[in-house]
Amino acid sequence: MESDSDIKSTPKGFHCCLCNVNLPNQSSLDQHVKGRKHLTLSTVRTTRKTQEEHSVFVSGIKPEISKYDLAEYFQRFGPVSDVIMDKDKGVYAIVQFNDTDSIQKTLSCIEHQMKGLQLRVKPREKKEFKLIPKKKNDSQNLQQVLDRLKPGLCQLSCVNEQMQYVVERCELGENEKKARGLLVQLLQEVFIEFFPDSQILPFGSSVNTFGIHSCDLDLFLDLENTKVFQAHAKSTTEQAGEGMSDDGRSEDSILSDIDLSSASPAEVLELVAAILRRCVPSVHKVNVVSTARLPVVKFHHRELNLQGDITINNRLAVRNTRFLQLCSGMEDRLRPLVYTLRYWAKQKQLAGNPSGAGPLLNNYALSLLIMFYLQNCEPPVLPTVDQLKNMACEEEECVIEGWNCTFPSQPIAVPRSKNTQDLCTLLAGFFSFYAKFDFASSVISLREGRALPITDFLCQNKGEETMQEEQPTKPHQTGPRLGPLNLLDPFELSHNVAGNLNERSQRSFQKECIEAEKYCRSLQYQRKSTKGKSWGLVRIFTPHGEVPSTKTEQLTISIPFKSASLPQVLRNQLHMAGDGFRLLWFQKVCSAVEGVFQSVLKCHLDPSTDAVFGEHSAVDATEEMESTSASLNTSINDSCDSVEYPDETSPLGTAVVGAKRPLSSGSDASVSPHGKKPRLAKRGKPAFPPWVCEQNHVVWAGRRKVRRELIKDADARPEGSCMEMESKVTAHIIEKEPPLKDPLKFKVQPQIVGGTESTKAVLKLEPSRDQAGVFQDFFHFLEAFLPKMVETLLEREVGSS
Ligand code: ATP
Ligand code: MG
Repeated sequence: MESDSDIKSTPKGFHCCLCNVNLPNQSSLDQHVKGRKHLTLSTVRTTRKTQEEHSVFVSGIKPEISKYDLAEYFQRFGPVSDVIMDKDKGVYAIVQFNDTDSIQKTLSCIEHQMKGLQLRVKPREKKEFKLIPKKKNDSQNLQQVLDRLKPGLCQLSCVNEQMQYVVERCELGENEKKARGLLVQLLQEVFIEFFPDSQILPFGSSVNTFGIHSCDLDLFLDLENTKVFQAHAKSTTEQAGEGMSDDGRSEDSILSDIDLSSASPAEVLELVAAILRRCVPSVHKVNVVSTARLPVVKFHHRELNLQGDITINNRLAVRNTRFLQLCSGMEDRLRPLVYTLRYWAKQKQLAGNPSGAGPLLNNYALSLLIMFYLQNCEPPVLPTVDQLKNMACEEEECVIEGWNCTFPSQPIAVPRSKNTQDLCTLLAGFFSFYAKFDFASSVISLREGRALPITDFLCQNKGEETMQEEQPTKPHQTGPRLGPLNLLDPFELSHNVAGNLNERSQRSFQKECIEAEKYCRSLQYQRKSTKGKSWGLVRIFTPHGEVPSTKTEQLTISIPFKSASLPQVLRNQLHMAGDGFRLLWFQKVCSAVEGVFQSVLKCHLDPSTDAVFGEHSAVDATEEMESTSASLNTSINDSCDSVEYPDETSPLGTAVVGAKRPLSSGSDASVSPHGKKPRLAKRGKPAFPPWVCEQNHVVWAGRRKVRRELIKDADARPEGSCMEMESKVTAHIIEKEPPLKDPLKFKVQPQIVGGTESTKAVLKLEPSRDQAGVFQDFFHFLEAFLPKMVETLLEREVGSS
């Protein structure tokens, strides 16, 4: 399928013109042409070419002409395989035939008359197939958006005013709200015809007081009281729908009598979609998305230029919308904060997944993060959800799907906050709160208004028990899906609202908070510039690429604590360790790192520093950890002092010693395994020394090729997924390639951080001898290889223990 003309030789190897990528050598070229991207593009190109050769371009049609009319007309020149129309305007079409002879016949016909129209028929233009690169980023657009807001913002006198201004500029206007209300009313009238006693309820940002001009219209179709679908309603609405539907589907095939009690959600949504298509004026682009967490019918309203979503089984969302409304009503500072931070998150590309799916925060999750911060201010700006529950009266009690969703219906029932901080201070506080937040080891609970330790959720059974106690009526058994950011829904306590985030998006969120926090400490944040320079919110909203990065290149490799990817046995151990989980995990990581350097990459570890944990006894390790904890002003968790971890032997033969008594690394641990004063262990060696390593071979170069030679199906085993294989690859390189003239010597200093930032092990690397100038290459290789290998080894070690 691939053509040789796609591949060009270049001075640096090869270039694939089809995929627009450079390949350094023949083997990577061979891999590339067998790869998914190249094969997909080749197939798409072949399909397009066939389509071009088999079709004609037809213009001069009118919107009322359907593709069936066109197919019928063009059949006379040969069998028609497809007709594609420009759906929105209906002025041109592409008619595709089964064979190329039909094209000749069509083009040789001088006049094409159909239904009183003079059609123009042309051959298809031959377009060169080109890969359209994905938009790298739309920071220019974001900058333009900000440019419109900037003059207004700059002329105000303080950040508080700027935040109010953002609300005024972005909020839904009265007319917009009215138009949305009318559409809801119309939909209600239509749906009640088909679904007797049904109710259509708006939720989400259209009604939660945080809506912006372009926000979607989220609707819940409540079918609780509807028993049957009334197909006969079609006669009433057919007239209403006349000339409105454009999808050409047969209504009778969809609108038949259905017992709703036995219909699946997908079937009901298909009915909803059919009704929208047939019976609601101006509604188009109706699609059922049944793969979403909550299946939904999406539609667009032409006149209002509005995106709408209709869900069923979504009562909780209606309730959490009420909750946001309540909080907004009882605390005036919430709206400006939410609008400002939604704007900031959009500008920084942290929130707003374009198609609803993706790894970014959604606005609901962001609002919850803001509210959680406000619960944690001193004194709190918002009460916890549990406190709100206790403020409600009996009639306000509400349980949905087993979850307790009780809170007062009116803001007046909630005492005013004693916190008097202004918006400017609260905004800066938000950034500093999350800049220092240990996402990796916390589960955010708005219900309790505190971060719950991740260890509570690592042991499956324990998590379930806890949840059952809290929610006795709750039928669900499973805990939340853990990820890099764990944010429990305030009501559906088994749901992580930010479960869609990946490591990268979580890191970006925190990185932007750190950046913003730094800026908020400067004078430009609080003080209006007298020289007309950007100040206050303008700088906070400036999209990426505008602010010069202050990051300095450091030779550090981070191994994040990823609760979600740990094997259950280790999760259980960490759960038992309670507050001391960080040090226990760190030990395991250090042991794995050592194994990678020593056994996988065949580095020679200086005998004086050999084995960070391996050479001293369990008692030494325990003492050491105690001294470490003590020197960090952290406390020993006496409540779990009987937990004992026996000495374990890692697959590498390196002894791994656990603590007899788990020690707290404290809530703000940021420690080196040495503590502040490195101590000598009993055998006269530093207990937690850095590793001093020596490498005699370029073991990082050409690994892929060697791996491929060693195993036939290289794709089946990605790099770093198998220790034996990686060890063999290194051994092979050492055997075949000449050694370095001057061995590379470097130091690796491990450190654990957490509490005041996301929990992770940080390895600081420092070359002490690098005559060949290869350390940078080695470092870049390790950056990707080491964390992956450590993950593999952690699983393996635990699996074998
Ligand atoms: P906008 O549409 O302006 O982005 P929104 O608040 O309407 O903001 P949507 O993503 O449209 O956000 O979600 C609509 C509503 O659905 C939310 O207000 C919330 O009630 C509910 N919702 C959205 N995402 C979740 C989620 N991950 N978990 C629970 N409920 C959610
Ligand atoms: Mg919405």
